[in-house]
Amino acid sequence: MSTTSFQTSEDFAAAMDARDPLAHFQERFYIPTAANGSECIYLCGHSLGLQPKTARSYLEQELRDWAKLGVEGHFHAKNPWMPYHRLLTQQTADLVGAQPNEVVVMNSLTVNLHLMMASFYRPTSQRHKILIERGAFPSDQYAVHSQIRFHGFDPQSSLIELSPRDGEACLREEDIESSIELHGDAIALILLGGVNYATGQAFDMAEITKAGHRQGCVVAFDLAHAAGNIPLRLHDWGPDFAVWCSYKYLNGGPGCVAGCFVHERHAQANAMPRFAGWWGHDEKTRFKMGPDFHPMPGAEGWQLSNPPILALAPLRASMEIFSEATMERLRAKSKLLTAYLEFLLRENASPKFAIVTPSDPERRGAQLSIKLPHHGRALCDRLTAEGTIGDWREPDTFRVAAVPLYNSYLDVHRFAQHFLAALQ
Ligand SMILES: *Cc1c(COP(=O)(O)O)cnc(C)c1O
Repeated sequence: MSTTSFQTSEDFAAAMDARDPLAHFQERFYIPTAANGSECIYLCGHSLGLQPKTARSYLEQELRDWAKLGVEGHFHAKNPWMPYHRLLTQQTADLVGAQPNEVVVMNSLTVNLHLMMASFYRPTSQRHKILIERGAFPSDQYAVHSQIRFHGFDPQSSLIELSPRDGEACLREEDIESSIELHGDAIALILLGGVNYATGQAFDMAEITKAGHRQGCVVAFDLAHAAGNIPLRLHDWGPDFAVWCSYKYLNGGPGCVAGCFVHERHAQANAMPRFAGWWGHDEKTRFKMGPDFHPMPGAEGWQLSNPPILALAPLRASMEIFSEATMERLRAKSKLLTAYLEFLLRENASPKFAIVTPSDPERRGAQLSIKLPHHGRALCDRLTAEGTIGDWREPDTFRVAAVPLYNSYLDVHRFAQHFLAALQ
């Protein structure tokens, strides 16, 4: 299927669904219902992924075992809780292109970002800067600002923010790399979103990592909008660490436990400073309850607490589905589905809206960001009330994502119709 043969008719959308090898995965999710009782057109998986129908049984298993076994569930539950988080390790490693010892599912995204910076942001008077995107997600900005201050530096002089060129919405790769070259010897940490949350732009993480390492910088990615959205090869690309949440494209449920990647080259970095907790302690001697901290090798050594089993359970349901669908097939559909959405909008181009996400499918994931300079918020609210769901980001951006696991071509077609009608 080539994107040049798209057609605007609803029949075309139905025909695309009929030949979509992943279409049946839609039935594996609950689609929210609108006020009038009909199914929503849900293009908001970039904000909160939908509930896999199997999530309930995963959760109920643990509730039953807790009821039946109490503390004994740590060892005797059907899925013993002591090593429960490892049920997610291989699938998580596959999803982000890592080795199993490079990933762990723990905490929440911003917590993991702080834990990683505690270890990897080690500013000196020569090299104290952090490079981020201007307008990075607020939590990332707050985390970075507070880390800079925590080390006695000033964000005014220790933060470099990358901006698009005048009149452009997205960053150019060459500008990112030239900035790294220009400031490299003063940069302690490069922290970029793998996919920018506001514009939907996907970065060339392999090249950025290379450019950063050439200058001796630590390189890290926030993959909140990349994990489960675009294929990742973290081990090969080689960033020092990465963090992501599991409730967006990964469908783990609101506030679900997050993910963390630490490259293998740091697996034995026992001398590295870190904020430690007992669950990061070597499991062989953890219950000797000794005073000295000996970290687990690899990413697990950054764990703090015993994990929330009831929050991990639904994520297992979703990760099973990812394993079955595979990122490769999901990405192939995702590229077509989002290109189709873009096609339908561009066929009805109007000065009332502009798509700011890159057109090149390699430079984006599932999301399109639509700039609506006039009354955009009201339009978004109206669509939501009617059950056509994207989300609004101040000051002027309507974000929608066509998610290949549970969105169909018909969803996209209907969305475009509702959106264009609401614009009138
Ligand atoms: C969604 C998102 C967050 C949210 O952080 P939490 O700690 O999960 O609340 C942070 N950063 C980015 C880039 C995000 O997209």
